[in-house]
Amino acid sequence: MKAVLVIDMLNDFIDPRGALYCGESARRIILRVRDLVDSFAAGHGLIVYLRDAHDPQDKEFQLFPPHAIAGTWGGQVIPELTPPPGALVLDKTRFTAFYRTDLERVLAEAHPEEVWVTGVVTSICVMDTVGDLRNRDYTPVVPVDAVADFDPQFHEFALKRMERVYGAKLVGEHGVAVAMDERP
Ligand SMILES: [Zn+2]
Repeated sequence: MKAVLVIDMLNDFIDPRGALYCGESARRIILRVRDLVDSFAAGHGLIVYLRDAHDPQDKEFQLFPPHAIAGTWGGQVIPELTPPPGALVLDKTRFTAFYRTDLERVLAEAHPEEVWVTGVVTSICVMDTVGDLRNRDYTPVVPVDAVADFDPQFHEFALKRMERVYGAKLVGEHGVAVAMDERP
């Protein structure tokens, strides 16, 4: 079986009124993430949403403006991506989805042969999570049209680095593998 992670598709990142809005490129991935979640649900895959859930005094706010404070509108999953029945929603407080969350245990129990990683931000939470998946011997898959970044250059660099360093499989719109060098 396969697993899909949906990272930080929250109002503060994806809604234009959000505190750390990632821009149009992030809005463009919503439908693709929805399609992936629905197809994993139909195929009895494991679906795990990761949600930034910060304390108002969180030290991460030395690096970024306050965002995704636990229990606020900004920290909620966007309405377009309401988790389907059976999906898990795990709160996190740092970039990687593994830091002080249940993800390690959840994946160890499920033994997925692939872990698809979607959401924002490509060069931050997505890349750190993909690295930590590889460090645990999982095979990460990154659908390139289901991840987004504030910065298009960081986005491209992060995809390339995940492919080369972590052996992430990059896939395009129809699930076809795309090597970075073949991309326009
Ligand atoms: Zn955060």
